[in-house]
Amino acid sequence: MAGGVGAAVGDGVAARRRIGLVGGTFDPPHVGHLALARAARDAFDLDEVRLLPTGRSWQKTGTGASSAQRLAMTRLAVAGLDPAERLTVDDREVRRDGPTYTVDTLRELRVELGAEVALLLVIGSDQLRNLPTWHRWFELFQLAHVATTQRERIGLEGLPAELEAELAARGRQSLPDTPAGAIVLFSMPAVPVSATALRAQLQRGERPDGLSPPAVLDYIGSNRLYRQP
Ligand code: ATP
Repeated sequence: MAGGVGAAVGDGVAARRRIGLVGGTFDPPHVGHLALARAARDAFDLDEVRLLPTGRSWQKTGTGASSAQRLAMTRLAVAGLDPAERLTVDDREVRRDGPTYTVDTLRELRVELGAEVALLLVIGSDQLRNLPTWHRWFELFQLAHVATTQRERIGLEGLPAELEAELAARGRQSLPDTPAGAIVLFSMPAVPVSATALRAQLQRGERPDGLSPPAVLDYIGSNRLYRQP
């Protein structure tokens, strides 16, 4: 583990705390989200990885479950895990009124956690490609690193020009010892699952065992989520 800010380690030099942030709609949460969080944790020796369900997403509309249900399912997805896994849920975006902007979340976290902690925004390649459409996206790098990985066949070639420019300036082979500002790649085994595909299966009345934690599937079943009206 990277240790806490100010904690003396080995030679007496304080190690910088590192926190990963996996935002998403989690509609519903699935094994791909958990695999992403674990892969980032292991690649960057993170002290904690927080899953942050979006409140009212300004980019995705017509989601199947309410914000409260998505939050409840995300909590269930990590509830049974060993605390040593260091996966937690942060509910601030669901509690916030109005549209959810990641830049606001990062600002809040900076105030709470201080200037020295390293924050890593963990996103799959589909979201990296989208990054220039995010609200005040260029401010993200003042607040956090961006850690990204190839999601299935969605590659990192042919990115939008403004993102290519950021990648050229900020791309690093390994995580620098700074609180924010770099774009770093990490690898994870492909986990071929998406919430869209899960919702389709659930709508057909199937139970996608193995693709989402059992407690989440039980919740979906007992609340009759994603069924045809
Ligand atoms: P939807 O199908 O509704 O668009 P989703 O499955 O893409 O949902 P999100 O909640 O939008 O899930 O994703 C949150 C984050 O998790 C994003 O950064 C996304 O790239 C990543 N992610 C989702 N599924 C996977 C997966 N199978 N492998 C790696 N990363 C994933």
